[in-house]
Amino acid sequence: MKRIAIIFFLLTSVPMVSSAQIDPSLLQAGLDALNSATLTNAQVAAYSRQAVQQMDAQNPVAGPSDPYTLRLNRIVQRHRTVAGLPINYKVYKVGQVNAFATADGSVRVFKGLMDIMTDSEILAIIGHEIGHVVNKDSHDAMKSALRRSAVRNLAASNSGVIGRLSRSQIGGVADYLLGASFSRRQETEADDYSYTFLRKNGYNVLALATSFEKLAKQGGGGGRLTQFVSTHPDSKARADRIRARARKDGLIR
Ligand SMILES: [Zn+2]
Repeated sequence: MKRIAIIFFLLTSVPMVSSAQIDPSLLQAGLDALNSATLTNAQVAAYSRQAVQQMDAQNPVAGPSDPYTLRLNRIVQRHRTVAGLPINYKVYKVGQVNAFATADGSVRVFKGLMDIMTDSEILAIIGHEIGHVVNKDSHDAMKSALRRSAVRNLAASNSGVIGRLSRSQIGGVADYLLGASFSRRQETEADDYSYTFLRKNGYNVLALATSFEKLAKQGGGGGRLTQFVSTHPDSKARADRIRARARKDGLIR
């Protein structure tokens, strides 16, 4: 019991948002804590930030004066902080139709998505992704990714002692960022979050419906890989649900 208290003292000294790498001994302490107690929000955010930094290093990030960055900045300029959470935005110049957000408030939008969506549709999808963060879906997914990583490491070491989380294992945790798929209920709630976000800020909520209709069309064809579609099935049904809600709210006839 005394040992756990010491571990928590160490972990709570990890800053919530930091550009510095996490000390490996703190990662070790974090893995020990995974088996005995829940991670705090700040710890999950710190691990998420580390994983996003690794993703940024491995992907072509659009520079500050790149037309894609300038366009995204224009789209999100009123939304640098959402629900009290500071958001940092970047474009990956990758042809995939994809976007994701992580528990530390990082939003990454892919060039392939920006190429097929209007500004309002991009904001609608960002609203959906931020919904996953605010609803703590991203937090829970990161936590289970860390837990799985710890379990794999234990099996590999075969020593009965959980080893240190290496840089490459942090990369393994980063995989969840691209392939995370949430439950149908979580997806519906993220859609509802985006709908409310758009409505509250004076945008047309139908952008959420048309973005899903575009994704539904992408699903069948070859060509560009549409990872967002594979983790977000039933795009057509979701678009229909959003239209029905807009009709009920008197926003369309
Ligand atoms: Zn989603």
